[in-house]
Amino acid sequence: MTRDDVEARLARVLQRIEAAAGRAGRRPDDVEILPVTKGHPARAIEIVEELGLARIGENRVPEAEAKRSALGATPGVAWHLIGRLQRNKARRALRLFDVVESVDSVMLARTLSRIVEEERLGPAEVLVQVNPSGEAVKAGFAGESAVDAVREICALPGLRVRGLMAMAPFTDDEAVLRPVFRGAASLLARCRDEIPEFGGDVLSMGMSNDFEIAVEEGSTRLRLGTVLLGER
Ligand SMILES: *Cc1c(COP(=O)(O)O)cnc(C)c1O
Repeated sequence: MTRDDVEARLARVLQRIEAAAGRAGRRPDDVEILPVTKGHPARAIEIVEELGLARIGENRVPEAEAKRSALGATPGVAWHLIGRLQRNKARRALRLFDVVESVDSVMLARTLSRIVEEERLGPAEVLVQVNPSGEAVKAGFAGESAVDAVREICALPGLRVRGLMAMAPFTDDEAVLRPVFRGAASLLARCRDEIPEFGGDVLSMGMSNDFEIAVEEGSTRLRLGTVLLGER
């Protein structure tokens, strides 16, 4: 992976986002890219930073720690945790990451809240992970339980709930993907309607194989690995 490679890939991705946004009557600027650097060397994070992308996503605490210590400070990028977080790694995660996108239980949210308070950190930015397809292998709150969970998590001190995160099943079948993304968008709308303390407007959904459909269905943040950085 070289910087030129990634720059060329980024240009194509931006064109595809623009086209998808156009089809849905959305502004391309309302969709941000979260480059997913997991499985790539630390250099990928520097490249992303050099290209002016404002954030990176990693899915495991130990891998992110190793990259953090290899790189030192990366003032140009916010670090997002996008993988499942075990509660016994919550403290390490809060030291490393600016955003935890994968809050998939109220217990985890309580643990994060408690650590933020104990360590007197500023509020932690989080997304609540939803699982609109109800697929058993996927983390996240399914359907109705999502709204109740968001309400509970919003009431915890030390957390700033910025929105929702969703993962679609691994398939290229649009007939499966589209309703999942639509379901996540409608959960976000319900949270905004029904929970006065919830001001979130981030909808993190869409990966390399399905991001155009996600844009058409209202995604505001695409988590892109392979399409941007190449095979892991
Ligand atoms: C790996 C990963 C991605 C990116 O996957 P690609 O298919 O390479 O774009 C996005 N979200 C999560 C949660 C991931 O673990």
